[in-house]
Amino acid sequence: MSAGDLSIKASASPGPSGAATGPRAAGDVEVIAGDCATGLLLLCDHAANAMPPELGSLGLPPEQLERHIAYDIGAAEMTRALAGALGAPAVLSHFSRLLIDPNRGLDDPTLVMRLSDGALVPGNRHLDEAGVAERITRFYAPYDAAITAAIERALAAGHPPAIVSMHSFTPFWKQAARPWHVGVLWDDPGALAKLLIAALRREKDLVVGDNEPYAGGLPGDTIDRHATRRGLPDVLIEVRQDLIATSHAARGWGLRLAAVLPGCLAQLRREQPASCDSTAVDRAPS
Ligand SMILES: [Zn+2]
Repeated sequence: MSAGDLSIKASASPGPSGAATGPRAAGDVEVIAGDCATGLLLLCDHAANAMPPELGSLGLPPEQLERHIAYDIGAAEMTRALAGALGAPAVLSHFSRLLIDPNRGLDDPTLVMRLSDGALVPGNRHLDEAGVAERITRFYAPYDAAITAAIERALAAGHPPAIVSMHSFTPFWKQAARPWHVGVLWDDPGALAKLLIAALRREKDLVVGDNEPYAGGLPGDTIDRHATRRGLPDVLIEVRQDLIATSHAARGWGLRLAAVLPGCLAQLRREQPASCDSTAVDRAPS
């Protein structure tokens, strides 16, 4: 099954104010309509730790669902705050990455994790091809299709969007403390990312990772599928989870990013108008 075969399932519809009504069940998609004239589309692949009731916690102790292995702590609230502050559209997943990781290509061996940061996932251990296909249909595909639909809406309105993918990272990895407050990840050409790194580094209280804590860009990941293959500008932002562990702090980081992101996008448009031009977006995924 290729990304092009993915079909749309019903997603959360915008309310009268343009705000999302919010997802109800694991596999729903949270869509914030926003204004595509902002030139932005925010994505949050790992927004939630939601599980369908019949799968419980995939055989894990329930407290494991509160860990970073299940979702990006703080990322959803940060994304909503950023979207709200800028009036930008956003698409947020509403299922745990332990079920299936929407930030992986369908042929990626880590699409369904059998082992995650030391935790064996019993409910994934013997999942066969049909089981994976069911999770693609129920969780992965609706989110992926909602992103495609949001991009198509923006293109139809004449506003090719820069794709901003919002994540968070665990402060410790393999017992080593990670020093960065925020990491900006990019794959070639990374022009928007480089502008954002420079802007964030002007804020002297921040340690900003340039393609840290890991290099951006996996073949078939969300940015690759939805930005790179379409020639849309993109950036992936990772904020350290201890800085956004409360709703208040996560919203604060959303507002902080809202103060710098539009300037970076405006600068990109001045320096590289072609990368933001609708003529640059004819490489739709096949
Ligand atoms: Zn993530």
